[in-house]
Amino acid sequence: MSYRPMLAEPADAPFGGAGWLFEVKWDGIRAIAHVGETLSIMTRNDNDVTHKFPELNELSKLTSKVVLDGEIIVMKGGRPDFQAVAKRVQASKLGDIEREARESPCTYVVFDILEKDGEPLTGRPLSERKAILRESLRDGEHVVVSSYVVGEGEAYYEAAVARGLEGVVAKRLDSPYRAGERSREWLKVKRVRTVDCVVVGYTRGTGNRADTFGALLLGLYDGDKLTFVGRVGTGFTDKSLRELLAAFRPYETAEQQAEAPDVPAGSTWLRPGVVAEVGYQNLTDDDRLRAPRFLRLRTDKAPRDCTIAQVRPVTLEEYNAKRNFSKSPEPVGEGTKPKGGSYVVQEHHARHLHWDLRLERDGVLKSWAVPKGPPEKPGERRLAVAVEDHPLDYGGFEGTIPEGEYGAGTVKIWDRGTYEAGEWGEEKIEFTVHGERLSGPYELVRFRKAGEKNWLLFKKRE
Ligand code: MN
Repeated sequence: MSYRPMLAEPADAPFGGAGWLFEVKWDGIRAIAHVGETLSIMTRNDNDVTHKFPELNELSKLTSKVVLDGEIIVMKGGRPDFQAVAKRVQASKLGDIEREARESPCTYVVFDILEKDGEPLTGRPLSERKAILRESLRDGEHVVVSSYVVGEGEAYYEAAVARGLEGVVAKRLDSPYRAGERSREWLKVKRVRTVDCVVVGYTRGTGNRADTFGALLLGLYDGDKLTFVGRVGTGFTDKSLRELLAAFRPYETAEQQAEAPDVPAGSTWLRPGVVAEVGYQNLTDDDRLRAPRFLRLRTDKAPRDCTIAQVRPVTLEEYNAKRNFSKSPEPVGEGTKPKGGSYVVQEHHARHLHWDLRLERDGVLKSWAVPKGPPEKPGERRLAVAVEDHPLDYGGFEGTIPEGEYGAGTVKIWDRGTYEAGEWGEEKIEFTVHGERLSGPYELVRFRKAGEKNWLLFKKRE
C-alpha cells in the first residue's frame, strides 16, 4: 500500500509538555521507504527516487518487511544542506548519480514506521510506533533512527538552534499516523532570526490604526550611516501600539533619517533613540528584512550597536570546511547575534603550543595565532599569524580536539573580556583591551616580509 506523509502545522513558539515528544526538524527530502523483497523510496509527491540514492540499498540488510517514514539529508559543514540533497534528486545519468553519491553521501533519518510484516501500524499511538521502529531497524552507515526527547521541548529547541539546525517538530505521543493530512498533532517550530533595529520613523495608520501608526521604519548602522532595511507592520497589540507612539514623541524630527525610496508620503521620521527587536526570515538582495515581525522594544540597547553586521550572512566556510564536527567538539560556524566587542585569547596545546588572539568584528571573531603568546610589557612585539575567521561562539570554547583532527589538542581560555577598536585598516589595527590578564592599547601591524598572513603584535604605552 502507498502512503502520503503526515504533515505538521506551524507552531508560534517553542513549547514543552508531557504529552509531546520533540525531534529535530531536518532540512532534506521527506521520503517513505518500502522495504521488502524489493526496496522503493518515494517522495511526498510520489516520485520514486530509489535509484537516486544507491547507498540506501543497505536498508534491506538493516530491517525486513516494513514501511518507514523519514527525511533524506546530506550533511555539509556539520549541517544538513538542502541544495546538496536537491542536486542528488536532480541527477539522472548513472555517472552523475554515482558521482553525487560519492561526493554528497546521504543519511536517511527514520522517524516513523507505518507497516510491519504487512500489518498497518498507522492506527497505533506514536509512542508504540516509536518502540516498534526501534526494535525493527538497526542503524547503518547511511540510516539512523531519529532520536527524540519527551516533554522538554524548549530546551531541545534551544539546543537544536544553537547547533545551526532549522528547528524542531513536536508530536503528540498518543497521535495516530494520519497519512496525507496536515494535523495539529504534529507541530513544527522553526527558527526565527531576530535583529535589533533603530526605529527611524513610522508610517501613518489607517482604519483601526488611524490614531496610532501603520508600520515602523527600520534602520541599521553600516559604518556611520543608517541604512533603511524595510518596515514592520505586524506583531503589535493595541497596548504596544500606544506605548510605542508615546516612546516616539521625544525623537520626532522633520529630517529624513535614512535613504528610503519606498517610504510612503506622510511618514514621520525619528532621530535614533528607539530600538526594536524584530523577527525576520532572511535579508533580501536589496537589503530588506523578509517577513519582519515586531517582537519588543529594547531599552537596554544603544542605537549605535544596531549594526548591519547582525543580518549580513557571515562567511565561516573556511572554518567549517577545515573541521569534522562529528569528531571535534568545536562549535559549528554560523552567524550568531553580536556579543559586542568581545575579546578572547585561547591557549592552544596543538602540535606547537600557541595562543589564539580573537577580536569580534562584523559578526565573527577575527583571529591570529601568536606562537609566543601576546606581549604583556609595553614595547614588546610578537609574531601573529592571521588564521580563518572563527564563529562568535568560539570565544567560549574550551575542550580537546581529538587526535587526527584539524588543530588537535587542548584549548583553554587564557584571557577574556572586551576591546575597543581604533583604526582598523588593511595594514594596521589599533585596539584597546579590557581583559582579566591583559589591558591597555595594542597594535597589529602587517609584516609582509615574513609572509602574507603575518603580522606583528605590539603592546603600546598607555
Ligand atoms: Mn589555534
